[in-house]
Amino acid sequence: MDFQLSDEQRLYRETLRRFVDREIVPVAREWEHSGRYPTEIVAGMRELGLFGLAVPEEYGGLAADTVSFALTFEEISRGWMGIAGILGSHSVTCWMLARHGTEEQKSRYLPELASGARRTGIALTEPGAGTDLQGIRTTALRDREGDGDDYIVDGTKMWITNARHADPLPVLVKTDPSATPAHKGMSILLVEADSPGFEVTQDIGKIGYKGTESCEVVLTGVRVPSSQLLGGVEGRGLQQALSSLETGRINIAARSVGIAQRAYDEALSYARDREAFGQPIGEFQAVQMRLAEIAVKLQAARLMTYWAASRMDDGVRMDTESGMAKIFASEAALECATDAMRIHGGYGYSTEFEVERLYRDAPLMSIGEGTNDVLRGVVAKALLAGKAQIR
Ligand SMILES: Cc1cc2nc3c(=O)[nH]c(=O)nc-3n(C[C@H](O)[C@H](O)[C@H](O)COP(=O)(O)OP(=O)(O)OC[C@H]3O[C@@H](n4cnc5c(N)ncnc54)[C@H](O)[C@@H]3O)c2cc1C
Repeated sequence: MDFQLSDEQRLYRETLRRFVDREIVPVAREWEHSGRYPTEIVAGMRELGLFGLAVPEEYGGLAADTVSFALTFEEISRGWMGIAGILGSHSVTCWMLARHGTEEQKSRYLPELASGARRTGIALTEPGAGTDLQGIRTTALRDREGDGDDYIVDGTKMWITNARHADPLPVLVKTDPSATPAHKGMSILLVEADSPGFEVTQDIGKIGYKGTESCEVVLTGVRVPSSQLLGGVEGRGLQQALSSLETGRINIAARSVGIAQRAYDEALSYARDREAFGQPIGEFQAVQMRLAEIAVKLQAARLMTYWAASRMDDGVRMDTESGMAKIFASEAALECATDAMRIHGGYGYSTEFEVERLYRDAPLMSIGEGTNDVLRGVVAKALLAGKAQIR
């Protein structure tokens, strides 16, 4: 399990670090509290080509290896995890479109998605179905009265990141609601934002993950041409969505490492600077224990995330590994953020310090791309079936 970043990956990380320290760190606290949209940061990420991270070179993207993909989300989340949200579901959808899109869909969308001229997200969750995606109710039925070449889409999607900026937005639908098992009747449609009947109806209030919007989207009789069916074949939607989960889990694990790194940085500097009883609080053993725990969990989470990412780069199937990394790193982020807050004493509860954002952002990492409880079940089943080995 030897792991070293290549020279290229180190250089890439240095570029990202400079960008994050210059463009994100100085404004994160103020913009997060005011609810301001980070337009300038988005422009900077565009300039760096980050919207093309998961887009193949032939369509103008960076086609980053998975370790570099992880480094991107780690570094940005060290600055402000909400910003990673702007890039996260965009990148996961680019990955899905590059693998499953028709040639026409790829050449129509990928070049503009790579440059950031277009942005995207993904609409799977509904008010009544998140983990249980086969329970979705959004339907896309062929227009039997017309020439039958369009779908008419009706339904409501919930929690959709980037909904106000996504065009197209891939929407998971039932093209055959009576199919058994249900996934055989599920498809993804690339819905363009100006389609009549497509409406972003509300921004959902959140404790953290600010800077990017999370919305309810209502589709009422939206007419979608059949050329917008991802991959051109019905019944593959759930499989297409789930195929991007490996990348998605690396993305969340890496964001968790970024949050844990920031918790460590803030805790270390506070432990050195703050004095009590005539000495820096870092001299107290209780504070040292917490600091050491943060460092241990952070470094373990980082290694596990890079390990899973590097296996993907080696072409090895790694859904179990990415799930393990996501579970461990997200729990570590939560614990590190809470410990950093405790080291800050009363100031950890103040909106004037960075740590309070970390422990509002960290819990989301245990929910996205499969809740940790659900993922534990997935990992255990893979181990019991002999599909993955731990040695
Ligand atoms: C800020 C934010 C942004 C999001 N962005 C997006 C987005 O861009 N696109 C999108 O499609 N979705 C998005 N989501 C939705 C997210 O993916 C879901 O919230 C998540 O999949 C969980 O679904 P749920 O909320 O319906 O919870 P449920 O599935 O109802 O789960 C509730 C509880 O039951 C447990 N549970 C459920 N099933 C099982 C099981 N089989 N075994 C054991 N335990 C189980 C869960 O672990 C959890 O504890 C976002 C959510 C948030 C909070």
